[in-house]
Amino acid sequence: MFIDTHCHMNMMGKKEFDVLLKEEHFPKIKEVVEVALQNGIEKIINVGTSLPESINCVEIAKRFDNVFAIVGIHPCDATKDWMQDFKEIKKLVQRKEELKIVGIGEIGMDFYHKPFDKDRQRDAFKAQIELALENDLPISFHVRDAADEFLRALEEYVKEIKGGVIHCFCQKQDFADVVLGWGLYVGIDGPITYPKNDWFREIVADIPLNRILLETDAPFLPPQQFRGKQNHPAYIPIFAQTVADLHNVSLEKLAEVTTNNAENLFSI
Ligand SMILES: [Zn+2]
Repeated sequence: MFIDTHCHMNMMGKKEFDVLLKEEHFPKIKEVVEVALQNGIEKIINVGTSLPESINCVEIAKRFDNVFAIVGIHPCDATKDWMQDFKEIKKLVQRKEELKIVGIGEIGMDFYHKPFDKDRQRDAFKAQIELALENDLPISFHVRDAADEFLRALEEYVKEIKGGVIHCFCQKQDFADVVLGWGLYVGIDGPITYPKNDWFREIVADIPLNRILLETDAPFLPPQQFRGKQNHPAYIPIFAQTVADLHNVSLEKLAEVTTNNAENLFSI
């Protein structure tokens, strides 16, 4: 079995961002969960990016036994009113057991999408790391074009946090060395199959299997053969095969190790 440790099924049921799911959206989400199960993806962690999307993740987790929620504010969603939303996120986290909240995320720093406010992103990032710390929850990290600032912000907390994963890991060797040294996991997605990513496959070949999680980020980042289409948690075995080949292990062995990693990190 596999676990999709980072998915956005909330974005697969509806077209608009940052609006609450309606009853009419759930049949599509139910179908996603069922097709995933048929393909051996037995657990799915759905990750929030904003307050409404975090509420959606909680709502989806409530309806499906094998789906869990991660809540938080994405750096690109750290608007000037982020503190208001953060208060509400905190209220959700207070009910973490009941709401099946297994982590905080996706949080971090992103200087790719413009415009951005570095200070505000850093403030929102740190506040949410502290929330994870207070609640003994692991973290799903987002970092894009902000490696140095991200590492600097995280450094002061990293020894105390319960653990975390660099979601959609696609970074250089020096970054990999730092985060692996800190005991973090890296999340591998469809881009491991993209032809231009030879440099990245070389890095992943050297990352110990006990530090790797599999995730789709669906509906985004489909593996090469589905590029241009919507990604799906059921596609995990496709790019997992690439990871297995890089490490000279069977797909079954990779599934076993990465599932174990995910169950340990998120206590699921
Ligand atoms: Zn994501």
